[in-house]
Amino acid sequence: MNYIVLDLEWNQSPIGKKGAVAGIPFEIIQIGAVKLNERFEEIDSFDAYVKPIVYSKMQRAVSEIIHVTMEELKENGEIFSDVADRFFKWCGDDFIFCTWGEGDLVELQRNVEYHGLDYKFAYPLFFYDLQRLYSMDKEDKEARYSLQDAIKECGLPEKKDYHSAINDARYTGQIMAFIDMEAYGAYKNIDNHTIPDSIENEIHIDFPTYNKYISKGFRSADAAINCKRVTNDLCYICGLKMKKRVKWFFINSKSGYCLYECPIHGSIAGRIRIKQNDAGLFFASRFMKKADKAQAENIKDKYKKYKEKEEAKKAKNQPNKPKS
Ligand SMILES: [Zn+2]
Repeated sequence: MNYIVLDLEWNQSPIGKKGAVAGIPFEIIQIGAVKLNERFEEIDSFDAYVKPIVYSKMQRAVSEIIHVTMEELKENGEIFSDVADRFFKWCGDDFIFCTWGEGDLVELQRNVEYHGLDYKFAYPLFFYDLQRLYSMDKEDKEARYSLQDAIKECGLPEKKDYHSAINDARYTGQIMAFIDMEAYGAYKNIDNHTIPDSIENEIHIDFPTYNKYISKGFRSADAAINCKRVTNDLCYICGLKMKKRVKWFFINSKSGYCLYECPIHGSIAGRIRIKQNDAGLFFASRFMKKADKAQAENIKDKYKKYKEKEEAKKAKNQPNKPKS
C-alpha cells in the first residue's frame, strides 16, 4: 500500500461567507501530492494548477500567502475535471490519503461533487491526519503544530516556500518518517463528509484505546440526541449494560458527555459531537473509552457545572409566585 500525502491550495469568495457559492465555499486552485512507499520514501509526485471558474478574484488573505496570481491561474491552469481525473488515476488502487489537518479531503470531495465528477471515494473514507498523529507521537494530544513548526522541530531543511501545495505535501510526507507509525498507525481518521445513509451503514470502529461511532443523519440535533443508538449505555468492549454514574447530558446542542461503569471494564467515558453535513442533516460522532480517575472526575465536574446552569435557568424562568 502507498501513502498519498495530499495538500491543496484553495480560493474563496473575496467578500467572505455571504459570497460563497453553494456546495463550493473553497475552490481548489492547486493540487499537490507525493506518493510514499511502505518505508515512507517518496516514489512519485503530482503537481497541478487549476483554472478557477467559481471565484474570479483572489481573496485577499489567500493572495497574501500563495505564490501564484489569478492571471497565472487563468492562463496556465487546467480545468478541474482534467486535473482531478489525472490525479485519481495517479493515486492508483491501493493507497491511503494522508493530510496535515482534516480539511483537505472535505474540500476535495466538495469540489469533485460540484463539478459532477463520478469518482467514488472509499466508504468509510479512512485517512491519516498527520498533524494529529504528530501530536500523539509528542504525547501532547491536544496540541496542533503548524506544518512549519513541525518541520523546524524535526530539523528538516526549509528550502522551498510554504503554501504551495506540492511543497507542503512534500514537507508533510517528510514528517511522516518522524512519526512512530508502528505505534500510531492504527489511529486512522474517518472522514465525515459522507455520512452513513442508513442504520445498517452506521460506522462502529474499535481503535486500540477507544471506540468511534458515526450515526446516520437526522432532521434535527434533538432527534440525534434522543436516538437510543446514539446515547446508549452498553459497554463498547463487552456489550453489557453499564451502571449509570453520570447519564448522557448535553451542555449545548452540539456537545454531550457521559460516565458509566461496566461491571467488567470499569469506568467508561463518552463524548458526543453533533455535527451538520452539507445537506443540512445532523449526525452524531461519538467516542467511548476507558476512563482513568482524572478523566472520570473531569466528566463529573462538567456535569456539576451543567446542573448549576440548568438550575439557574429554571429559577430565571419561574419568577416567584405572587403572594396571596
Ligand atoms: Zn465491558
